[in-house]
Amino acid sequence: MPVTLNTTDPDFETRFLAMLSAKREDSSDVNDVVAAIIADVRARGDAVLCELTARFDRLDLTPDRLRFSAEEIDDTIARVSAEDRAALSLAAERIRAYHARQMPEDASWTDPEGATLGWRWSPVGAAGLYVPGGQAAYPSSVLMNAIPARVAGVKRLVICVPTPDGVVNPLVLLAARLAGVDEIYRVGGAQAVAAMAYGTATIAPVDKITGPGNAYVAAAKRQVFGRVGIDMIAGPSEVLVIAEGAQNPDWLALDLLAQAEHDADAQSILVTTDAGLADEVAKAVDRILPDLPRSAIAAASWRDYGTIIVARDLAEAAALSNRVAPEHLELCVDDPEALARDCVHAGAIFLGAYTPEAVGDYVSGPNHVLPTARSARFSSGLSVLDFLKRTTMAHLTPGALAAIGPAAMRLAASEGLQAHGASVEARLARLNEGGTE
Ligand code: NAD
Repeated sequence: MPVTLNTTDPDFETRFLAMLSAKREDSSDVNDVVAAIIADVRARGDAVLCELTARFDRLDLTPDRLRFSAEEIDDTIARVSAEDRAALSLAAERIRAYHARQMPEDASWTDPEGATLGWRWSPVGAAGLYVPGGQAAYPSSVLMNAIPARVAGVKRLVICVPTPDGVVNPLVLLAARLAGVDEIYRVGGAQAVAAMAYGTATIAPVDKITGPGNAYVAAAKRQVFGRVGIDMIAGPSEVLVIAEGAQNPDWLALDLLAQAEHDADAQSILVTTDAGLADEVAKAVDRILPDLPRSAIAAASWRDYGTIIVARDLAEAAALSNRVAPEHLELCVDDPEALARDCVHAGAIFLGAYTPEAVGDYVSGPNHVLPTARSARFSSGLSVLDFLKRTTMAHLTPGALAAIGPAAMRLAASEGLQAHGASVEARLARLNEGGTE
């Protein structure tokens, strides 16, 4: 049974805090394993990729077979049905259209002193996209990673995806084709992250690694950060649903279970102003859950992390949601726009009864790689900006240097950096002599 709380209970705050601090990912035991794998990949390269792929994915490879050949990709994609192809194409187009709007503008202006200032955006040179594949295949994650990278203008995109027993979901390769990625390696886990960060004879290194994965992948991304950039640590999925009385309890139960079936460590929370609805949703979950193909995973998640909270009113519900800072927030209420204004900490918000979170996983357009474990307090989902760098620009006229240079000289002196001050002073001296070059 999930935890059921009522904000009027005297011990509500204590129990709510316990729910917030429940540790849902523990990677401390994997850090040492991951460090050893990274060191080994740096030392012995492709040989380690082959050994670990044999051990973890039960697939014997030689270095020349790490990369999918063009023929393999063509042959595999040919097996995709027209219906699946159409659905994936629709998803790709909608994701592309959404992310195209995120492209930021360069800026440039000249200030009153004569300094032309601004900034310019440019893409990272090469991005490595980790696509999880240990227990389930995620074609949607290929699109969510690769399309923003393409929109940003990244020239080289690399995909690493584990293929347990040598099996790949054809839709993963089709999604890569739709996003224009053909450099795809059948390598997973920490060894894939290490290869993309440091390079091997077969896999040239990238500049940034994005994408979700299990604890080994997450730990590896943390450990290679600095050598390469990373997007975020995307952990077990979460949803918080705020609902009023007139909502359909079966729909709410399905939305909670859609998150729970991801992972035994996923978390589904219902906050409602109606105690009767809370009971009906709990009953609907119990009725629907046993028939799900992934009922064992969903049952473990709902039992260990599922939570139902009865709140006094929607303002209180929004305040609680802000403290959770959920990855996904559904607002199943009469006026979702009004409530959304009060919900300021969430990775993605789904407004109204006809916007189930699952559409966001695939086809609504916004990215599904989102901050988890309360990190939506300070971070955002994957976007075009993750694949761009901002370079600042300054171009001073002689007059501008004359106007602001003396202040730089004073500050340089105060920091004891003599050459700094002298580099300005030499130019100002030239100007005082009447020269401009
Ligand atoms: P995965 O590809 O992340 O990991 C599989 C790899 O882990 C294996 O190839 C192996 O190399 C490595 N591994 C497994 N056991 C190991 C061990 N004992 N020692 C060293 N390495 C080991 O696939 P997965 O396991 O299915 O996990 C996918 C995760 O990604 C899930 O937790 C899922 O919830 C999450 N996910 C998140 C999102 C998102 O957008 N937030 C999307 C999809 C999936």
